[in-house]
Amino acid sequence: MKPLLPALFISHGAPTLLTEQGPTHAFLAKLGSEMERPQAIVCISAHWNTSAPMVNAASRPDLIYDFGGFPDELYRMTYPAPGDPALAERIALLLKDQGMEAGREPARGFDHGAWVPLKLMYPGADIPVVELSVQPRQTPAHHAAIGAALRPLREQGVLILASGSATHNLKDFFGRAVDSPPLDYAREFDDWLCNAVGTDDRESLLDYQEKGPHALVNHPTPEHFLPLFVAMGAGGKGKVAHRAFTYGAISMAAFAWE
Ligand code: ZN
Repeated sequence: MKPLLPALFISHGAPTLLTEQGPTHAFLAKLGSEMERPQAIVCISAHWNTSAPMVNAASRPDLIYDFGGFPDELYRMTYPAPGDPALAERIALLLKDQGMEAGREPARGFDHGAWVPLKLMYPGADIPVVELSVQPRQTPAHHAAIGAALRPLREQGVLILASGSATHNLKDFFGRAVDSPPLDYAREFDDWLCNAVGTDDRESLLDYQEKGPHALVNHPTPEHFLPLFVAMGAGGKGKVAHRAFTYGAISMAAFAWE
């Protein structure tokens, strides 16, 4: 049997991740070709927030340019990967089996939490992608349960790709240079997070708002952190796959679960 693809959490940073060279640009550009080619990708994106889980069942998703004030070239980018309505239906049924009702969104595009990293990882845009939403009002444990429900997909060569941000204080992001040194509160949380993932301390991770140093400063709102729990729930032992910082406040850390 082929080894399973890891369940991944990546930090997508600013959309300029695509156009500016840097350590995370280089990491993601290599990551796709270092793994077996997935049959399809389920992308859990911090930029799709709903009260109950939603899957994107569009067969030809457009792009959503859900960011403002960035260079024009980013608004002209394309990523014509197909959707996969059958996989979207399968995801909804897997969630239903675990007691979670998932809605189907028939006509949604890919938001930049999905297409920015995917364009780096799989520039050919020839692997079907289904997006799955995040529920900011729900707990980390809820998101881990979604991940656990998705586990069987991994045996069919589906890549679980959770896209968010390891730290995400936008107030401190604005006005800082991309290569600013990490702020103390962000570095402390990032160190704690890398250690907790590396030692598989799920209990602390699930209780990150209490256990993580400066958790609410790093994540004033939870939507960029919650995708991590989907990847964690879908996998076994975790490891740190990448570390870097941008704009002082935004950790670009990535994690992989066996
Ligand atoms: Zn984002």
